[in-house]
Amino acid sequence: NKQVIFRDYVSGFPKESDMEVTTTTVKLKLPEGSNGILVKNLYLSCDPYMRIRMKRIEGPNVFSSFAPASPLSGLGVAKVVDSGHPEFKAGDLIWGTTRWEEYSLITEMEGLFKIQHTDVPLSYYTGILGMPGLTAFAGFHEVCSPKKGEYVFISAAAGAVGQLVGQFAKLMGCYVVGSAGSKEKVDLLKNKFGFDEAFNYKEESDLNAALKRYFPEGIDIYFENVGGKTLDAVILNMRAHGRIAVCGMISQYNLEQPEGVQNLMLLVYKRIRMEGFVVFDYYNIYPKFLDVVLPYIREGKIVYVEDIAEGLESGPAALVGLYSGRNVGKQVVAIARD
Ligand code: NDP
Repeated sequence: NKQVIFRDYVSGFPKESDMEVTTTTVKLKLPEGSNGILVKNLYLSCDPYMRIRMKRIEGPNVFSSFAPASPLSGLGVAKVVDSGHPEFKAGDLIWGTTRWEEYSLITEMEGLFKIQHTDVPLSYYTGILGMPGLTAFAGFHEVCSPKKGEYVFISAAAGAVGQLVGQFAKLMGCYVVGSAGSKEKVDLLKNKFGFDEAFNYKEESDLNAALKRYFPEGIDIYFENVGGKTLDAVILNMRAHGRIAVCGMISQYNLEQPEGVQNLMLLVYKRIRMEGFVVFDYYNIYPKFLDVVLPYIREGKIVYVEDIAEGLESGPAALVGLYSGRNVGKQVVAIARD
């Protein structure tokens, strides 16, 4: 069983050498009487929160640390090979929490979904039809309370979550601008995802001026993926009664001390609602989400860009690449096709 082992807690930017690909000769079997499942992993999801799990986390938290010297755990798509669980049988396809290895024994069944629709790419269940898709959907529709015609700004806009938030906002009739870190991504935002405007934040020495250029009347909704200086410049440009959905702050994940936000008092004066949210709170609306999004995919009303790395060996580089923006679209690692 080939595995990607997490070596030890990380400080600063994660490196490929923080992980190691090894092969064990132990053949996994479902223990007698177990009500878990044995799965063959097909696609693994690279997600920014995995960096948070690479540090030592003490006390209650949304996340727990990865166990050093053990395989990474994360979301993925897998095929059931053997089952002691009444709701799953060999041949079923699932998505949910698995480990970075060829075969896994899963005994924690909460948050595991049986895949019912296979007329779309299976890898989509790591992205548009999985956790990032639900994050974009719930974060935009439930947290941002959007209205037609509102001005929406999205950071890390070409990523797994951002590309969808922008498309949901366009479908609502909003004016949508995204920022991303390369020309290729800016072109995707404008030409493939239908954003009204997009800019490369790495080429803007003054983010406040850039936002004023794209939003002369201010921003109603900010979908926050990066934090730090971007958040500060956005608060300056928010309109009264604006909403900020705080989805994540990837620019802060590799820092020992978070950068200071200067403009927080403007939340008060402008009566801005800034609301954090965790996708797990919205897993109950997953069926409703599928009902909305599957037809959009089939009708071509929503498109999705993936960046698929081949083989478990490519996993560490793919994961580390999230923090330098190497990924174009949702980063997936393909281990097997079926
Ligand atoms: P992406 O696919 O967007 O990949 C991460 C991207 O972040 C990179 O491609 C890069 O794009 C950008 N980035 C990396 N470092 C920086 C930096 N220092 N400053 C600015 N941008 C940076 O990831 P996801 O779409 O999966 O995740 C987006 C955000 O959503 C993350 O903050 C994540 O933690 C959060 N999230 C939160 C959830 C929740 O429940 N609240 C659930 C899922 C995700 P670029 O080239 O544009 O710099």
